[in-house]
Amino acid sequence: MEYEAVIGLETHVQLNTKSKMWCGCANAYGAAPNTQVCPVCLGLPGVLPVPNEEALRKTTLTGYLLNCEIPRFAKFDRKNYFYPDAPKNYQLTQYDKPTTANGFVEFEFQGGLARVRITRAHLEEDVGKSFHFDRNSGVDFNRAGVPLMEIVSEPDITSADMAYEYLNALKDILLYGGVSDCDMEKGMVRCDVNVSVRPVGTQELGAKIEIKNMNSFSGVRRALEYEIPRQIAVVKAGGKLIQSTRRWDDTTGITEEMRTKEHAHDYRYFPEPDMMPLAPTDEWLAEVRKLVVELPLARKQRFIREYSLPAPDAETFKNDVALGNYFEPLAKQSSNPKAVANWVINNLRAKLTELNEREKTEQSELGIEPADLQLTTLADLKFPPAALLELVGLVEAKTISNAAAQQVFAEMFATGKTPAAIVQEKGLAQVSDTGAIEKLCDEAIAASPGPVADYRAGKAAALNALKGYVMKLSKGKANPALAGEILERKLKG
Ligand code: ADP
Ligand code: MG
Ligand code: ZN
Repeated sequence: MEYEAVIGLETHVQLNTKSKMWCGCANAYGAAPNTQVCPVCLGLPGVLPVPNEEALRKTTLTGYLLNCEIPRFAKFDRKNYFYPDAPKNYQLTQYDKPTTANGFVEFEFQGGLARVRITRAHLEEDVGKSFHFDRNSGVDFNRAGVPLMEIVSEPDITSADMAYEYLNALKDILLYGGVSDCDMEKGMVRCDVNVSVRPVGTQELGAKIEIKNMNSFSGVRRALEYEIPRQIAVVKAGGKLIQSTRRWDDTTGITEEMRTKEHAHDYRYFPEPDMMPLAPTDEWLAEVRKLVVELPLARKQRFIREYSLPAPDAETFKNDVALGNYFEPLAKQSSNPKAVANWVINNLRAKLTELNEREKTEQSELGIEPADLQLTTLADLKFPPAALLELVGLVEAKTISNAAAQQVFAEMFATGKTPAAIVQEKGLAQVSDTGAIEKLCDEAIAASPGPVADYRAGKAAALNALKGYVMKLSKGKANPALAGEILERKLKG
């Protein structure tokens, strides 16, 4: 019998609000321990939570971006448990009435489109962070009460690779929506992985095994690559899987059991009595709707369609939004958007990367912290976007050769001078004067008896050597197509 995997993910995402979920403390990563706290987020008796409207707005916006319904009634509930880093001994979350429900995410997978249904995206709060020292432990409550969104998928994912692509697509959408910074290194996105196996062709779900608290997408993929065959081996050997929670060990690359269902928590959820239920009005929802942006996949598809770009170029502009935003207005003005894309990706981006790599090395040698590096962005360029369009136009009109255009670009990148000025100054305008090129061709033929003989003997490729010679004689200024034609005519004649 063949088995298949069934996977559902619960993804926790920190929202990038200015303040925490129920109080005015800063939602700030990296501050000294317990400096961003107050009686509310420390869970002191008698305080009252006040929901952060920006967090509600960002969760609702996420709902729209994930094609969810936004119910007109939602509420917060207490999820009760004791844990040293949860100061109130309960977490405020949305239990049976979440702010968004019933959506889906669509993404590219294995040459087609995959769709994973979203059960809900609800709002809750993050907990503090424990630190263990040699002789004691400490808790930093700066993170306690930071708005945390939980995005629960239906069990529609069927492989480790699909889980990985789903998570990346989800992250892209959240970044586009501006709801979270999604910095994995800062723990802004964490994931619980639920996985079971069942005989291919059957519908009933197998025992759900949950791998808790994964903090990297590649970790999720590796954990599933281990866990799926493990489960299949158990059932194939006649064993029985039971619902349980496992832990992923990133170093050894295995999962190990933490607890089974008998030891599952009973959270004794009940509605938060200190807060009114949420009833978004038409006006409020309309305001949130205005924040809806084009989704990453839609942007990629549109770039392919509207600018006739190959998929890899469109993918680049999907992933690098600033670069895509730089490209698009130029593409709209150009008769050759593909050429513009080539310049933006292969020259502009490459030069910026090169420059920034150099800056990074120099600045870190000066002892500057990674977070404080001063890097050059598209906004810092010395030339205006229109100059790039002008450059593409010069090549299109064959005023300058491709090789000359590279020189012009390097110069405008370094100095901000206009392409026309650089062409003039360096005398780069292409020579299309037949008489002048004829003379250079004669010279090339006279100086290269070998290639000439080869060409006459039928080796067509030998023409390139002669063309190269002409280009060199002209210092790169001869029109190469014209030089080729003239050489051919002379050698055949
Ligand atoms: P719980 O109440 O234990 O959190 P849920 O029903 O809310 O369980 O499901 C949590 C996550 O687990 C969801 O993403 C869901 O799609 C997924 N899931 C549920 N049952 C299974 C199963 N048998 N196999 C794989 N994933 C599952
Ligand atoms: Mg759950
Ligand atoms: Zn606080």
